[in-house]
Amino acid sequence: MKWETVIGLEVHAQLNTRSKIFSGASTAFGAPPNTHASAVDIALPGTLPVLNRAAVEKAIRFGLSVGSRVNSRSIFARKNYFYPDLPKGYQISQYETPVVQGGSVTIVVGDAEKTVRLTRAHLEEDAGKSLHEDFHGETGIDLNRAGTPLLEIVSEPDMRSAAEAVAYAKALHGLVRWIDICDGNMQEGSFRCDANVSVRPAGSDKLGTRCEIKNLNSFRFLERAIDFEVRRQIELIEDGGSVLQETRLYDPDRDETRPMRSKEDAHDYRYFPDPDLLPLEVSEPWLAEIQADLPELPQTKRERFVSVYGLRAYDAVVLTTSPEISAYFETAADGAPGPVAKLCANWITGTLSARLNEEGIDIIDSRVGPRQLRGLVERIADGTISNKIARDVFDAIWSGEAQGEQAADAIIRARGLTQISDSGALEKIVDEVIAANAQQVEDYRGGKEKAVNSLVGQVMKATRGKANPQQVNEILRRKVIARG
Ligand code: ADP
Ligand code: MG
Repeated sequence: MKWETVIGLEVHAQLNTRSKIFSGASTAFGAPPNTHASAVDIALPGTLPVLNRAAVEKAIRFGLSVGSRVNSRSIFARKNYFYPDLPKGYQISQYETPVVQGGSVTIVVGDAEKTVRLTRAHLEEDAGKSLHEDFHGETGIDLNRAGTPLLEIVSEPDMRSAAEAVAYAKALHGLVRWIDICDGNMQEGSFRCDANVSVRPAGSDKLGTRCEIKNLNSFRFLERAIDFEVRRQIELIEDGGSVLQETRLYDPDRDETRPMRSKEDAHDYRYFPDPDLLPLEVSEPWLAEIQADLPELPQTKRERFVSVYGLRAYDAVVLTTSPEISAYFETAADGAPGPVAKLCANWITGTLSARLNEEGIDIIDSRVGPRQLRGLVERIADGTISNKIARDVFDAIWSGEAQGEQAADAIIRARGLTQISDSGALEKIVDEVIAANAQQVEDYRGGKEKAVNSLVGQVMKATRGKANPQQVNEILRRKVIARG
Protein backbone atom coordinates (compact mmCIF):
# COMPACT_ATOMS: atom_id res chain seq x y z
CA MET A 1 0.00 0.00 0.00
CA LYS A 2 1.18 3.55 -0.71
CA TRP A 3 1.01 5.93 2.23
CA GLU A 4 0.69 9.67 2.45
CA THR A 5 2.25 11.67 5.27
CA VAL A 6 0.25 14.49 6.88
CA ILE A 7 1.90 17.08 9.11
CA GLY A 8 0.67 20.12 11.03
CA LEU A 9 3.08 22.24 13.08
CA GLU A 10 2.65 24.22 16.25
CA VAL A 11 5.48 26.73 16.61
CA HIS A 12 6.24 28.61 19.81
CA ALA A 13 8.01 31.87 19.06
CA GLN A 14 9.23 33.78 22.08
CA LEU A 15 8.39 37.44 21.55
CA ASN A 16 11.42 39.68 22.01
CA THR A 17 9.86 42.16 24.41
CA ARG A 18 12.01 43.51 27.23
CA SER A 19 9.57 42.62 29.97
CA LYS A 20 7.21 39.71 30.48
CA ILE A 21 3.71 39.41 29.11
CA PHE A 22 1.89 40.08 32.41
CA SER A 23 4.60 41.55 34.68
CA GLY A 24 7.43 44.04 34.57
CA ALA A 25 10.19 41.44 35.17
CA SER A 26 12.99 41.21 32.61
CA THR A 27 12.95 38.51 29.90
CA ALA A 28 16.77 38.46 29.56
CA PHE A 29 18.16 34.96 29.06
CA GLY A 30 20.79 33.38 31.31
CA ALA A 31 20.38 35.29 34.59
CA PRO A 32 20.93 33.38 37.89
CA PRO A 33 17.83 31.31 38.78
CA ASN A 34 14.78 33.18 40.08
CA THR A 35 16.33 36.65 39.82
CA HIS A 36 13.92 37.63 37.03
CA ALA A 37 10.76 36.41 38.71
CA SER A 38 8.40 39.00 40.10
CA ALA A 39 5.55 38.51 42.58
CA VAL A 40 3.22 38.02 39.59
CA ASP A 41 5.49 35.41 38.02
CA ILE A 42 5.74 33.35 41.20
CA ALA A 43 1.97 33.69 41.72
CA LEU A 44 1.89 35.36 45.11
CA PRO A 45 -1.75 35.63 46.23
CA GLY A 46 -3.36 38.97 45.50
CA THR A 47 -1.14 39.89 42.53
CA LEU A 48 -2.79 40.72 39.21
CA PRO A 49 -1.55 40.38 35.63
CA VAL A 50 -1.20 43.49 33.44
CA LEU A 51 -1.00 42.87 29.70
CA ASN A 52 2.17 44.02 27.92
CA ARG A 53 1.24 46.25 24.95
CA ALA A 54 4.45 45.46 23.05
CA ALA A 55 3.67 41.72 23.11
CA VAL A 56 0.27 42.39 21.56
CA GLU A 57 1.81 44.61 18.89
CA LYS A 58 4.26 41.89 17.95
CA ALA A 59 1.48 39.32 17.63
CA ILE A 60 -0.39 41.75 15.38
CA ARG A 61 2.73 42.41 13.28
CA PHE A 62 2.85 38.70 12.65
CA GLY A 63 -0.83 38.49 11.74
CA LEU A 64 -0.51 41.35 9.26
CA SER A 65 2.57 39.73 7.69
CA VAL A 66 0.81 36.49 6.84
CA GLY A 67 -2.53 37.89 5.72
CA SER A 68 -4.45 36.81 8.82
CA ARG A 69 -7.52 38.33 10.33
CA VAL A 70 -6.65 40.29 13.46
CA ASN A 71 -9.62 39.98 15.77
CA SER A 72 -10.86 43.30 17.11
CA ARG A 73 -11.69 41.55 20.37
CA SER A 74 -9.97 38.48 21.81
CA ILE A 75 -10.03 36.72 25.13
CA PHE A 76 -7.40 35.39 27.54
CA ALA A 77 -8.22 32.03 29.10
CA ARG A 78 -6.85 29.92 31.90
CA LYS A 79 -5.49 26.54 30.85
CA ASN A 80 -5.43 24.50 34.03
CA TYR A 81 -2.82 21.85 34.72
CA PHE A 82 -0.41 20.98 37.48
CA TYR A 83 3.32 21.14 37.07
CA PRO A 84 6.00 22.25 39.55
CA ASP A 85 7.27 24.98 37.22
CA LEU A 86 3.75 26.46 36.85
CA PRO A 87 3.12 28.09 40.23
CA LYS A 88 -0.36 29.47 39.44
CA GLY A 89 -1.66 26.01 38.53
CA TYR A 90 -2.76 27.39 35.18
CA GLN A 91 -1.20 28.98 32.14
CA ILE A 92 -2.73 32.16 30.73
CA SER A 93 -3.34 31.51 27.04
CA GLN A 94 -5.98 32.21 24.42
CA TYR A 95 -8.51 29.58 23.51
CA GLU A 96 -11.75 30.24 21.69
CA THR A 97 -10.91 33.68 20.33
CA PRO A 98 -7.19 34.16 19.60
CA VAL A 99 -5.79 37.52 18.50
CA VAL A 100 -4.79 36.21 15.04
CA GLN A 101 -6.80 33.81 12.84
CA GLY A 102 -6.22 32.39 9.35
CA GLY A 103 -3.57 33.54 6.91
CA SER A 104 -0.91 31.54 5.08
CA VAL A 105 2.79 31.08 4.45
CA THR A 106 4.29 30.25 1.04
CA ILE A 107 7.10 27.71 0.98
CA VAL A 108 9.42 26.54 -1.81
CA VAL A 109 10.58 22.93 -1.94
CA GLY A 110 12.91 22.24 -4.83
CA ASP A 111 11.47 24.65 -7.37
CA ALA A 112 7.82 24.05 -6.46
CA GLU A 113 5.82 26.59 -4.49
CA LYS A 114 3.21 25.63 -1.98
CA THR A 115 0.90 27.46 0.38
CA VAL A 116 0.55 26.33 3.98
CA ARG A 117 -2.57 27.67 5.67
CA LEU A 118 -2.43 28.94 9.21
CA THR A 119 -5.16 28.13 11.66
CA ARG A 120 -4.38 30.74 14.26
CA ALA A 121 -1.72 32.45 16.31
CA HIS A 122 -2.37 33.18 19.94
CA LEU A 123 -0.61 34.89 22.81
CA GLU A 124 0.33 32.97 25.94
CA GLU A 125 2.85 32.91 28.74
CA ASP A 126 5.73 30.45 29.02
CA ALA A 127 6.22 28.25 32.11
CA GLY A 128 9.36 28.11 34.29
CA LYS A 129 12.03 25.43 34.04
CA SER A 130 12.62 22.32 36.10
CA LEU A 131 16.33 21.68 36.58
CA HIS A 132 17.40 18.12 37.16
CA GLU A 133 21.17 18.47 37.11
CA ASP A 134 23.23 19.55 40.14
CA PHE A 135 20.49 18.83 42.64
CA HIS A 136 21.47 15.35 43.83
CA GLY A 137 18.27 13.55 42.93
CA GLU A 138 16.07 16.52 43.63
CA THR A 139 14.59 19.02 41.21
CA GLY A 140 15.33 22.74 41.14
CA ILE A 141 12.74 25.22 39.90
CA ASP A 142 13.82 28.33 37.99
CA LEU A 143 10.98 30.76 37.37
CA ASN A 144 12.93 33.26 35.27
CA ARG A 145 11.19 32.04 32.14
CA ALA A 146 7.72 31.99 33.75
CA GLY A 147 5.59 34.67 32.13
CA THR A 148 7.80 35.13 29.05
CA PRO A 149 5.54 36.08 26.11
CA LEU A 150 5.01 33.43 23.46
CA LEU A 151 3.20 33.49 20.18
CA GLU A 152 1.92 30.01 19.37
CA ILE A 153 1.50 29.69 15.62
CA VAL A 154 -0.67 26.75 14.55
CA SER A 155 -0.77 25.49 10.96
CA GLU A 156 -3.41 23.46 9.19
CA PRO A 157 -2.33 19.86 8.46
CA ASP A 158 -1.11 20.95 5.01
CA MET A 159 2.40 19.53 4.84
CA ARG A 160 3.07 16.20 3.11
CA SER A 161 6.73 15.48 3.90
CA ALA A 162 9.45 16.23 6.41
CA ALA A 163 11.07 18.44 3.75
CA GLU A 164 7.91 20.55 3.50
CA ALA A 165 7.68 20.80 7.28
CA VAL A 166 11.29 22.00 7.45
CA ALA A 167 10.72 24.50 4.63
CA TYR A 168 7.68 25.84 6.49
CA ALA A 169 9.52 26.06 9.83
CA LYS A 170 12.41 27.86 8.12
CA ALA A 171 10.04 30.29 6.40
CA LEU A 172 8.41 31.13 9.75
CA HIS A 173 11.79 31.37 11.46
CA GLY A 174 12.99 33.81 8.80
CA LEU A 175 9.79 35.82 9.00
CA VAL A 176 9.68 36.31 12.78
CA ARG A 177 13.22 37.64 12.75
CA TRP A 178 12.54 39.73 9.66
CA ILE A 179 9.65 41.55 11.32
CA ASP A 180 11.62 41.70 14.58
CA ILE A 181 9.23 39.92 16.89
CA CYS A 182 11.51 37.03 17.95
CA ASP A 183 15.28 36.53 18.01
CA GLY A 184 14.89 33.03 16.57
CA ASN A 185 17.56 31.58 18.86
CA MET A 186 16.74 27.88 18.76
CA GLN A 187 19.44 26.80 21.22
CA GLU A 188 17.97 29.07 23.88
CA GLY A 189 14.48 27.81 23.05
CA SER A 190 13.21 31.07 21.57
CA PHE A 191 11.79 29.18 18.59
CA ARG A 192 10.57 25.61 19.06
CA CYS A 193 8.32 23.31 17.10
CA ASP A 194 5.81 20.60 17.94
CA ALA A 195 5.16 18.34 14.96
CA ASN A 196 1.80 16.59 14.58
CA VAL A 197 2.29 13.60 12.31
CA SER A 198 -0.09 11.06 10.84
CA VAL A 199 -0.21 8.77 7.81
CA ARG A 200 -3.09 7.66 5.61
CA PRO A 201 -3.52 5.55 2.46
CA ALA A 202 -2.54 7.65 -0.56
CA GLY A 203 -5.66 9.18 -2.10
CA SER A 204 -7.69 9.08 1.10
CA ASP A 205 -9.18 12.36 2.29
CA LYS A 206 -9.71 11.23 5.87
CA LEU A 207 -7.03 12.17 8.39
CA GLY A 208 -5.24 9.35 10.19
CA THR A 209 -4.61 9.30 13.95
CA ARG A 210 -1.77 11.66 14.81
CA CYS A 211 1.06 11.75 17.28
CA GLU A 212 2.49 15.02 18.51
CA ILE A 213 6.27 15.23 18.86
CA LYS A 214 7.12 17.93 21.37
CA ASN A 215 9.82 20.56 21.59
CA LEU A 216 11.95 20.09 18.51
CA ASN A 217 14.59 22.79 18.69
CA SER A 218 16.52 22.33 15.46
CA PHE A 219 15.52 21.90 11.83
CA ARG A 220 17.57 18.72 11.61
CA PHE A 221 15.79 17.17 14.60
CA LEU A 222 12.45 18.24 13.15
CA GLU A 223 13.24 16.43 9.91
CA ARG A 224 14.62 13.29 11.55
CA ALA A 225 11.85 13.05 14.12
CA ILE A 226 9.21 13.22 11.39
CA ASP A 227 11.01 10.67 9.22
CA PHE A 228 11.29 8.27 12.14
CA GLU A 229 7.69 8.79 13.19
CA VAL A 230 6.34 8.21 9.68
CA ARG A 231 8.25 4.93 9.39
CA ARG A 232 7.08 3.84 12.83
CA GLN A 233 3.42 4.53 12.07
CA ILE A 234 3.48 2.79 8.69
CA GLU A 235 5.16 -0.30 10.14
CA LEU A 236 2.70 -0.38 13.01
CA ILE A 237 -0.32 -0.23 10.70
CA GLU A 238 1.10 -2.70 8.19
CA ASP A 239 1.69 -5.13 11.06
CA GLY A 240 -2.02 -4.96 11.86
CA GLY A 241 -1.77 -2.49 14.73
CA SER A 242 -3.12 1.03 15.01
CA VAL A 243 -1.61 4.36 15.96
CA LEU A 244 -2.42 5.63 19.43
CA GLN A 245 -2.98 9.37 19.73
CA GLU A 246 -0.22 10.46 22.07
CA THR A 247 2.49 12.96 22.84
CA ARG A 248 6.00 11.75 22.03
CA LEU A 249 9.53 12.99 22.58
CA TYR A 250 12.37 12.80 20.07
CA ASP A 251 15.68 11.42 21.36
CA PRO A 252 18.46 12.68 19.09
CA ASP A 253 21.03 10.27 20.54
CA ARG A 254 19.02 7.24 19.50
CA ASP A 255 17.28 8.97 16.58
CA GLU A 256 13.84 7.77 17.61
CA THR A 257 10.64 9.07 19.17
CA ARG A 258 9.31 7.69 22.45
CA PRO A 259 5.93 8.01 24.15
CA MET A 260 5.75 10.75 26.78
CA ARG A 261 2.09 10.77 27.77
CA SER A 262 -1.27 9.96 26.28
CA LYS A 263 -2.77 12.96 24.58
CA GLU A 264 -4.94 15.27 26.69
CA ASP A 265 -8.07 16.68 25.13
CA ALA A 266 -8.99 20.34 25.38
CA HIS A 267 -11.68 19.54 27.95
CA ASP A 268 -9.04 18.13 30.32
CA TYR A 269 -7.67 21.64 30.73
CA ARG A 270 -10.96 23.19 31.91
CA TYR A 271 -10.35 26.33 29.89
CA PHE A 272 -12.30 29.37 31.04
CA PRO A 273 -11.93 33.14 30.47
CA ASP A 274 -9.46 34.64 32.93
CA PRO A 275 -11.48 36.92 35.24
CA ASP A 276 -8.31 38.91 36.02
CA LEU A 277 -7.92 40.16 32.45
CA LEU A 278 -10.20 42.31 30.32
CA PRO A 279 -10.90 41.28 26.75
CA LEU A 280 -8.16 42.50 24.41
CA GLU A 281 -9.51 45.14 22.03
CA VAL A 282 -7.63 46.14 18.90
CA SER A 283 -8.81 49.38 17.30
CA GLU A 284 -8.60 50.20 13.57
CA PRO A 285 -6.18 53.12 14.08
CA TRP A 286 -3.87 50.91 16.14
CA LEU A 287 -3.91 48.27 13.40
CA ALA A 288 -3.16 50.89 10.76
CA GLU A 289 -0.26 52.20 12.81
CA ILE A 290 1.27 48.73 13.13
CA GLN A 291 0.72 48.05 9.43
CA ALA A 292 2.49 51.28 8.48
CA ASP A 293 5.49 50.26 10.56
CA LEU A 294 6.07 46.91 8.75
CA PRO A 295 9.10 46.52 6.46
CA GLU A 296 8.89 45.06 2.95
CA LEU A 297 8.19 41.39 3.63
CA PRO A 298 10.45 38.51 2.53
CA GLN A 299 7.69 37.13 0.32
CA THR A 300 7.38 40.43 -1.57
CA LYS A 301 11.14 40.72 -1.90
CA ARG A 302 11.38 37.15 -3.09
CA GLU A 303 8.87 37.76 -5.87
CA ARG A 304 10.72 40.93 -6.83
CA PHE A 305 14.06 39.07 -7.01
CA VAL A 306 12.49 36.56 -9.41
CA SER A 307 10.76 39.11 -11.63
CA VAL A 308 13.43 41.83 -11.69
CA TYR A 309 16.63 39.77 -11.68
CA GLY A 310 15.31 36.51 -13.09
CA LEU A 311 16.57 34.46 -10.12
CA ARG A 312 15.48 30.87 -9.58
CA ALA A 313 12.73 30.60 -6.94
CA TYR A 314 15.01 28.59 -4.69
CA ASP A 315 17.86 31.13 -4.81
CA ALA A 316 15.36 33.90 -4.11
CA VAL A 317 14.25 31.99 -1.00
CA VAL A 318 17.81 31.62 0.25
CA LEU A 319 18.51 35.30 -0.42
CA THR A 320 15.50 36.35 1.65
CA THR A 321 16.16 34.26 4.73
CA SER A 322 17.34 37.37 6.56
CA PRO A 323 17.28 41.12 5.95
CA GLU A 324 21.10 41.06 6.03
CA ILE A 325 21.56 38.55 3.23
CA SER A 326 18.95 40.22 1.05
CA ALA A 327 20.54 43.63 1.62
CA TYR A 328 23.91 42.15 0.62
CA PHE A 329 22.42 40.75 -2.58
CA GLU A 330 20.60 43.98 -3.42
CA THR A 331 23.76 46.03 -2.98
CA ALA A 332 25.78 43.59 -5.08
CA ALA A 333 23.20 43.26 -7.85
CA ASP A 334 22.02 46.88 -7.85
CA GLY A 335 21.25 47.89 -11.43
CA ALA A 336 23.06 44.86 -12.86
CA PRO A 337 21.89 43.10 -16.00
CA GLY A 338 20.28 39.69 -15.45
CA PRO A 339 23.33 37.46 -16.01
CA VAL A 340 25.49 39.51 -13.62
CA ALA A 341 22.74 39.51 -10.99
CA LYS A 342 22.40 35.74 -11.31
CA LEU A 343 26.15 35.31 -10.93
CA CYS A 344 26.00 37.49 -7.79
CA ALA A 345 23.23 35.23 -6.45
CA ASN A 346 25.26 32.10 -7.18
CA TRP A 347 28.35 33.46 -5.50
CA ILE A 348 26.43 34.59 -2.40
CA THR A 349 24.55 31.32 -1.93
CA GLY A 350 27.63 29.27 -2.87
CA THR A 351 31.23 30.36 -2.23
CA LEU A 352 30.44 33.27 0.10
CA SER A 353 27.93 31.42 2.31
CA ALA A 354 30.26 28.44 2.59
CA ARG A 355 33.15 30.68 3.63
CA LEU A 356 31.03 32.57 6.18
CA ASN A 357 29.86 29.27 7.61
CA GLU A 358 33.35 27.84 7.84
CA GLU A 359 34.63 30.85 9.71
CA GLY A 360 31.48 31.48 11.75
CA ILE A 361 31.13 35.04 10.47
CA ASP A 362 27.86 36.93 9.90
CA ILE A 363 27.28 38.28 6.43
CA ILE A 364 27.37 41.90 7.68
CA ASP A 365 30.97 41.25 8.76
CA SER A 366 31.92 39.53 5.51
CA ARG A 367 35.50 40.20 4.48
CA VAL A 368 34.39 40.42 0.86
CA GLY A 369 31.88 43.26 0.65
CA PRO A 370 28.90 43.30 -1.73
CA ARG A 371 30.46 45.88 -4.08
CA GLN A 372 33.72 43.94 -4.13
CA LEU A 373 31.82 40.80 -5.05
CA ARG A 374 30.07 42.70 -7.83
CA GLY A 375 33.45 43.86 -9.14
CA LEU A 376 34.67 40.27 -9.16
CA VAL A 377 31.56 38.88 -10.80
CA GLU A 378 31.73 41.47 -13.59
CA ARG A 379 35.17 40.25 -14.54
CA ILE A 380 33.79 36.73 -14.87
CA ALA A 381 30.83 37.95 -16.89
CA ASP A 382 33.01 39.88 -19.35
CA GLY A 383 35.41 36.97 -19.78
CA THR A 384 38.45 38.59 -18.13
CA ILE A 385 38.85 35.69 -15.71
CA SER A 386 37.50 32.16 -15.44
CA ASN A 387 35.36 30.91 -12.56
CA LYS A 388 38.32 29.00 -11.23
CA ILE A 389 40.64 32.01 -11.17
CA ALA A 390 37.78 34.04 -9.69
CA ARG A 391 37.89 31.80 -6.64
CA ASP A 392 41.57 32.67 -6.14
CA VAL A 393 40.74 36.36 -6.49
CA PHE A 394 37.91 35.93 -3.97
CA ASP A 395 40.38 34.36 -1.52
CA ALA A 396 42.81 37.21 -2.08
CA ILE A 397 40.15 39.85 -1.35
CA TRP A 398 39.07 37.85 1.69
CA SER A 399 42.60 37.85 3.05
CA GLY A 400 42.89 41.61 2.52
CA GLU A 401 45.29 41.65 -0.44
CA ALA A 402 43.47 44.66 -1.89
CA GLN A 403 40.84 47.07 -0.59
CA GLY A 404 37.98 49.06 -2.01
CA GLU A 405 35.38 48.46 -4.64
CA GLN A 406 38.00 47.82 -7.34
CA ALA A 407 39.80 45.17 -5.28
CA ALA A 408 39.18 42.42 -7.84
CA ASP A 409 40.66 44.47 -10.69
CA ALA A 410 43.68 45.41 -8.60
CA ILE A 411 44.40 41.76 -7.83
CA ILE A 412 43.84 40.61 -11.40
CA ARG A 413 46.30 43.25 -12.59
CA ALA A 414 48.90 42.71 -9.89
CA ARG A 415 48.92 38.95 -10.35
CA GLY A 416 48.60 39.03 -14.13
CA LEU A 417 45.52 36.83 -14.09
CA THR A 418 43.78 38.21 -17.15
CA GLN A 419 42.40 35.41 -19.24
CA ILE A 420 44.23 34.92 -22.55
CA SER A 421 41.70 36.33 -24.96
CA ASP A 422 44.18 36.96 -27.76
CA SER A 423 43.12 34.07 -29.99
CA GLY A 424 46.44 34.18 -31.91
CA ALA A 425 48.37 33.40 -28.73
CA LEU A 426 45.89 30.71 -27.81
CA GLU A 427 46.02 29.09 -31.25
CA LYS A 428 49.76 28.82 -30.97
CA ILE A 429 49.51 26.96 -27.65
CA VAL A 430 46.80 24.71 -29.07
CA ASP A 431 49.05 23.86 -32.03
CA GLU A 432 51.83 22.89 -29.65
CA VAL A 433 49.52 20.68 -27.61
CA ILE A 434 48.19 18.98 -30.74
CA ALA A 435 51.71 18.34 -32.00
CA ALA A 436 52.79 16.82 -28.68
CA ASN A 437 49.73 14.56 -28.24
CA ALA A 438 49.33 12.65 -31.47
CA GLN A 439 47.65 9.69 -29.74
CA GLN A 440 44.87 11.75 -28.12
CA VAL A 441 44.28 13.60 -31.37
CA GLU A 442 43.98 10.24 -33.13
CA ASP A 443 41.53 8.97 -30.47
CA TYR A 444 39.41 12.06 -30.80
CA ARG A 445 39.30 11.79 -34.57
CA GLY A 446 38.37 8.13 -34.17
CA GLY A 447 35.26 9.20 -32.29
CA LYS A 448 36.40 9.27 -28.65
CA GLU A 449 34.73 12.46 -27.44
CA LYS A 450 36.48 12.21 -24.11
CA ALA A 451 39.93 12.61 -25.62
CA VAL A 452 39.18 16.26 -26.21
CA ASN A 453 38.91 16.87 -22.46
CA SER A 454 42.44 15.73 -21.91
CA LEU A 455 43.62 18.04 -24.69
CA VAL A 456 41.70 20.99 -23.20
CA GLY A 457 43.26 20.12 -19.84
CA GLN A 458 46.77 20.31 -21.35
CA VAL A 459 46.09 23.74 -22.83
CA MET A 460 44.70 24.98 -19.51
CA LYS A 461 47.81 23.70 -17.80
CA ALA A 462 50.09 25.38 -20.32
CA THR A 463 48.29 28.70 -19.73
CA ARG A 464 48.19 28.24 -15.95
CA GLY A 465 44.39 28.32 -16.04
CA LYS A 466 44.22 31.62 -17.83
CA ALA A 467 42.58 30.39 -21.03
CA ASN A 468 38.84 30.39 -21.51
CA PRO A 469 38.01 26.66 -21.57
CA GLN A 470 35.11 27.15 -23.95
CA GLN A 471 37.27 29.03 -26.39
CA VAL A 472 40.01 26.38 -26.13
CA ASN A 473 37.44 23.73 -26.83
CA GLU A 474 36.26 25.48 -29.99
CA ILE A 475 39.75 26.08 -31.33
CA LEU A 476 40.77 22.49 -30.63
CA ARG A 477 37.78 21.00 -32.38
CA ARG A 478 38.23 23.28 -35.35
CA LYS A 479 41.92 22.45 -35.70
CA VAL A 480 41.57 18.72 -35.22
CA ILE A 481 38.75 18.48 -37.71
CA ALA A 482 40.65 20.69 -40.19
CA ARG A 483 43.52 18.23 -40.02
CA GLY A 484 41.31 15.28 -40.70
P1 ADP B 1 -4.08 20.37 20.02
O1 ADP B 1 -4.36 21.78 20.40
O2 ADP B 1 -4.76 19.38 20.86
O3 ADP B 1 -2.64 20.05 19.88
P2 ADP B 1 -5.22 20.93 17.37
O4 ADP B 1 -6.48 20.36 16.83
O5 ADP B 1 -5.22 22.36 17.69
O6 ADP B 1 -4.76 20.07 18.59
O7 ADP B 1 -4.11 20.63 16.30
C1 ADP B 1 -2.81 20.88 16.54
C2 ADP B 1 -2.02 20.67 15.27
O8 ADP B 1 -2.18 19.34 14.79
C3 ADP B 1 -2.41 21.56 14.11
O9 ADP B 1 -1.22 22.06 13.54
C4 ADP B 1 -3.12 20.65 13.14
O10 ADP B 1 -2.91 21.05 11.81
C5 ADP B 1 -2.43 19.33 13.40
N1 ADP B 1 -3.25 18.14 13.11
C6 ADP B 1 -4.52 17.90 13.50
N2 ADP B 1 -4.92 16.68 13.08
C7 ADP B 1 -3.85 16.13 12.43
C8 ADP B 1 -3.63 14.86 11.78
N3 ADP B 1 -4.55 13.92 11.74
N4 ADP B 1 -2.42 14.64 11.24
C9 ADP B 1 -1.45 15.58 11.29
N5 ADP B 1 -1.60 16.77 11.88
C10 ADP B 1 -2.80 17.05 12.44
MG1 MG C 1 -0.83 20.78 20.62
